[in-house]
Amino acid sequence: MVGLYIHIPFCEKKCDYCDFYSITNKSSLNRYVDCLIREIELFCSKIQQNKLSVQTIFFGGGTPSILPISHLELIVEAIERHFDLSSLKEFTIECNPGTDFVRNLQVYKAIGINRISIGVQSFVPEELNYLGRIHSVEEAIRSIDSALNVFNNVSIDLIFSIPVQTEQTLSRTMEMVKAFDLKHISAYSLIYEEGTKLYKQMIEGKVRPHSEEKDYRFYKLICESLQSLGFEHYEVSNFAKPGYKCKHNLRYWKGEEYIGFGPSAHSYFLGQRYWNFRSLSRYFEQVERGLLPIEGKEMLTEKEKLTEQIMLGLRAEGINFGDFRAKFGIDLFRTACSIFELWQASGKAKLNSEKVSLTDDGYFVCDKLTIDLLDRIENIASKKFSSMQVQL
Ligand code: SF4
Repeated sequence: MVGLYIHIPFCEKKCDYCDFYSITNKSSLNRYVDCLIREIELFCSKIQQNKLSVQTIFFGGGTPSILPISHLELIVEAIERHFDLSSLKEFTIECNPGTDFVRNLQVYKAIGINRISIGVQSFVPEELNYLGRIHSVEEAIRSIDSALNVFNNVSIDLIFSIPVQTEQTLSRTMEMVKAFDLKHISAYSLIYEEGTKLYKQMIEGKVRPHSEEKDYRFYKLICESLQSLGFEHYEVSNFAKPGYKCKHNLRYWKGEEYIGFGPSAHSYFLGQRYWNFRSLSRYFEQVERGLLPIEGKEMLTEKEKLTEQIMLGLRAEGINFGDFRAKFGIDLFRTACSIFELWQASGKAKLNSEKVSLTDDGYFVCDKLTIDLLDRIENIASKKFSSMQVQL
């Protein structure tokens, strides 16, 4: 069973904070769809297996809702030809409220999409403006309303710690969230990624990020309002109503197999991690020569798998000690009990003899806790494996 990720690297305009691979010139859209289909065919001809069974499909980007329906249908038909979709559980498309996807919602449903993820980011006009988003609050509201008329499973993305944001304006956004029957929310702290317009403004001193303490207050405000609405906090940035965790992303966090198509897409398949060329021109060149557009590959060693298991476990649904022992032969509970107890005493973790998982406060400092835990078990892991790199 695998998950499929399809990258659509086109956007109407680049948002000021975004470092995902996407371009605004759409003149190569037809060529791109041809290459994407060719890449799917190439991959499936190489694996020499029966059709792989697919559990989840995720169209991400970029802006997948930019795709004309005819193009989307061609890609979905190619997926249907080459994969077994009889066990498909979740099929998501990311939509930008500034694109006219609302008129396509019925067709989305007809082709099997069952989950809509809308990039709202904020319900405050100044904040949308600050982020360089192409849509208004009204368009976001219309998009959500229309999506909910057709789909039961609608998610939205939010961004917090925007420099012009205050706790009052974030509360306004959270009040708006209440107005909709949403099943899932992803909430990300604004990151100043190198190479973005926002990063440049920060370096030039034109923008000042919020303090960590303020960032924490925003985070807590979101956690508390979503929990009061019945959302479960199941990953650092993700909240879901019961039964609506994102199955596709859970595959990443559980270390299950997924295959990514398109420039910059990553895959994990048959124990190997690999990633595609990021630039569209390089991607075209490879695929049109009949080659998979893979830029790099790596086979994880046992110690890297251990590191990854800890990182992913802590950021999502926790680490099960029995599973960890079965996989790596290490009794994590006994080895790091004092650390876990410290986390628990400071309200950062929930602990019992079977499992450790993080609380809201723990998720907020997840990277730091991960490093502490990896440091603690380094000796024992080094004995088991030759050495262990701590990398975040
Ligand atoms: S629409 Fe999404 S992918 Fe495109 S630039 Fe904005 S944040 Fe990035």
